[in-house]
Amino acid sequence: MAEDPVIIASAEGAVLRDTEGREYLDANSSIWTNLHGHRHPRITAAIKDQLDRIAHSSFLGLSNVPAIELAEKLAALTGLPRVFYSDDGSTAIEVAIKMSLQYWRHRRQAGRTKFVAFADAYHGDTLGAVSMGGIDLFHAAFKPLLFEVLRVRDVASLQKVLREQHDSIAGVCIEPLIQGAAGMRLWPRGLLADVRQLCDYFDTLMIADEVMTGFGRTGTMFACEQEKVVPDLMAVAKGLTGGYLPLAATMATEQIFNVFLGEYEEFKTFFHGHSYTGNQLGCAAALANLQVFEDERTLENLKSKIANLKQGLEQCRQLSHVVDVRQCGFIGAVEIGPYRIEEQMGIKVCREMRQRGVLTRPIGNVIVLMPPYCVTTEQLERMVTALAESVRAVCG
Ligand SMILES: *Cc1c(COP(=O)(O)O)cnc(C)c1O
Repeated sequence: MAEDPVIIASAEGAVLRDTEGREYLDANSSIWTNLHGHRHPRITAAIKDQLDRIAHSSFLGLSNVPAIELAEKLAALTGLPRVFYSDDGSTAIEVAIKMSLQYWRHRRQAGRTKFVAFADAYHGDTLGAVSMGGIDLFHAAFKPLLFEVLRVRDVASLQKVLREQHDSIAGVCIEPLIQGAAGMRLWPRGLLADVRQLCDYFDTLMIADEVMTGFGRTGTMFACEQEKVVPDLMAVAKGLTGGYLPLAATMATEQIFNVFLGEYEEFKTFFHGHSYTGNQLGCAAALANLQVFEDERTLENLKSKIANLKQGLEQCRQLSHVVDVRQCGFIGAVEIGPYRIEEQMGIKVCREMRQRGVLTRPIGNVIVLMPPYCVTTEQLERMVTALAESVRAVCG
């Protein structure tokens, strides 16, 4: 079914405006990136201010002021002291993969070349990230180009794989607390801590993909905090700049950093860099984003909004054809069914929501509600109402 494209022209807070002057609530935070709303004065000012100094200079053999300041902030927030910049979530994962592999080479365990990832995982759309991913619909077509990944679905299968093959395993990658693109699927509580323990026990690297969950989405600054886990490598992107500019970071332990040190002729360098690595505008936006968390006590204020979202989702649970309702912090999901994907019921519900002035995207039969943190009670109510009405209209 063809539909008119919505062409966005401007925005403010949680509201997007199209070229026809129609307004929509941004109910998936512009694909999970936006945090404090569009055109937040503080972030806008920081980018403009940075523009008056410099937009970009190379990060190869050079550094820059906002990149250094941001690295310090990220280190303090995550407990991971070393920061490697790149451009988006996928590249942050590529960096984690390559860094893990080279880490073991430097440690003279070059046989550790395999990665473990979870069933239905999503880690991005570049080839390394696609290899790590486990969603056939997105990934099957590219199989000839992908490397083998050991696929597990729970702690028991992870333990088995690690017990049998730990000598050849470079790292274990996981989306902490919740798998996003899989359809907002929650891990059992405690699984993340178990993964950390197993990685410690079998001496392999734990890679946390916090690209979606990072920066408050699950109610804490990082999802890993909720199970007191510090991974060896952590990828962040989407919310890093508050949803303003593409920027990503892969954070690492001091131990990982140290094995890359050596004399020039040892060539221990991590040979990976992008033209826009450490981009000043992005780093300035990210610094302002983190400053807003402090100034506006974002995480504290989010608590009541998370409770409101919970209430709203509970209302949706009563609807016929709603088979499950899930929430993790400020991520909400309403699953309808049972429908085949070909029936496009999720797409139809979102189309109805659009008619009611609310924009989001389905994942198959799962409707995602993931508002910017600045959303008002009234706006959140409108999102929930639009969702409920649309489910009723489409599913009966
Ligand atoms: C979005 C996402 C990615 C990929 O990030 P991009 O910036 O789109 O490349 C990786 N991992 C997770 C968990 C994501 O949600």
